[in-house]
Amino acid sequence: MKPDTALIHHDYQPPGDFASPQIAVHKASSVFFPDVKAMRERNWLDKTGYTYGLHGTPTTFTLEERICQLEGAKHCVLLPSGLAALAQVNLALLKTGDHILIPDNAYGPLKTLAECELQQWGISHDYYNPMDPSSLADRVQSNTRLVWLEAPGSVTLEFPDLPALVNVCRDKAVLTALDNTWGAGVAFQPFDFMLHTSNDHRGVDVCVHALTKYPSGGGDVLMGSVTTCRDDLARSLKLSHMRLGFGVAGNDAELVLRSLPSMSLRYKTQDDTCRQLAAWCLHQTAFAQVLHPAIVGSPGHAHWCDLCVGGVAADAKVHSGGAAASLLSLRFDPAITPAQVDVFCNALKLFKLGFSWAGPISLVVPYDLTKMRQNAPSDLLQGGFVRLAIGLESAEDLIADLAQALQAMP
Ligand SMILES: *Cc1c(COP(=O)(O)O)cnc(C)c1O
Repeated sequence: MKPDTALIHHDYQPPGDFASPQIAVHKASSVFFPDVKAMRERNWLDKTGYTYGLHGTPTTFTLEERICQLEGAKHCVLLPSGLAALAQVNLALLKTGDHILIPDNAYGPLKTLAECELQQWGISHDYYNPMDPSSLADRVQSNTRLVWLEAPGSVTLEFPDLPALVNVCRDKAVLTALDNTWGAGVAFQPFDFMLHTSNDHRGVDVCVHALTKYPSGGGDVLMGSVTTCRDDLARSLKLSHMRLGFGVAGNDAELVLRSLPSMSLRYKTQDDTCRQLAAWCLHQTAFAQVLHPAIVGSPGHAHWCDLCVGGVAADAKVHSGGAAASLLSLRFDPAITPAQVDVFCNALKLFKLGFSWAGPISLVVPYDLTKMRQNAPSDLLQGGFVRLAIGLESAEDLIADLAQALQAMP
């Protein structure tokens, strides 16, 4: 054998039982089979062996299992972003002629996907008011196949009565898919929150999680997951995932695996800081409304109490119990002009202008709700609107930053 070939086909095999806290990064397109029979017999749909890098490696299988553990699911597929995960559920479960329902306050790109790709493929949609289960019931048609849910809404943070919405879907025999990025498997159990049900399935049918957010926590990875407890749906999701060629890279999967052990600590710290900021913002006259599910009077606060605090009532203006993630939205007094709100955003120093959330650095995004909502309550559309995503900085420093930016407004 020539040296260059020997460099490739070296016969040294490291011992197999290397045990350390962190799973190894396995990267592959090719996976070797010992013989032709083994190659022909390998079933890539189960996790008892490996077929091709796209269908799984020890690293991605481990991450899938950990996400199942986090969310109380049985099956998981990984995708290259949270948005790809939202798209995958639609691609796997819908066909031309189907109709879907999306909450009016949903993650914006899901609405755009419905309005562009899905519409063009003959899959129609309507928006429902997630704060009114009868609005959902009224919009279910004979061809409605899937209802999207989000708790709370992405930007305006209204918390819906999730069990009531799921009950409407059950009554009408329509599938439910929850974008669970906010709850993250920490705030409530997406497959086990229905208290009064004779059904085996005590939650939603399918769950999407932007692992980009809490599971990564670094602001440096894009990834998404789709989970389910239903074997029939898992099969459709996996087959379509394979046919479409979605997969994730070993290095990225390893970054998420490395961050998962600290996820609940990061969630809790950001949640605590966020509530301190919410309490401070309630006292600022510049803000007409502070939106956060743990604030008494914030839309859907009672539903959040039921789902995330077991119905325990608030002990203060900002409830101290349960879990409530790290997003906080502010509606400015309508007397403050949009240009002044821009000055506020530009003046922030610790809060960076940037999309996404749940990373170490606090972020701010100004939104124009009039372009985003079909059926928003009219008061919500009065005045400038910003969403804050709280990072891991100290609450005191973040409050000082907000205070100086308010001062900077002309
Ligand atoms: C960020 C986000 C997504 C999309 O995740 P990406 O990985 O950025 O594509 C989906 N849903 C919600 C609620 C999100 O916040």
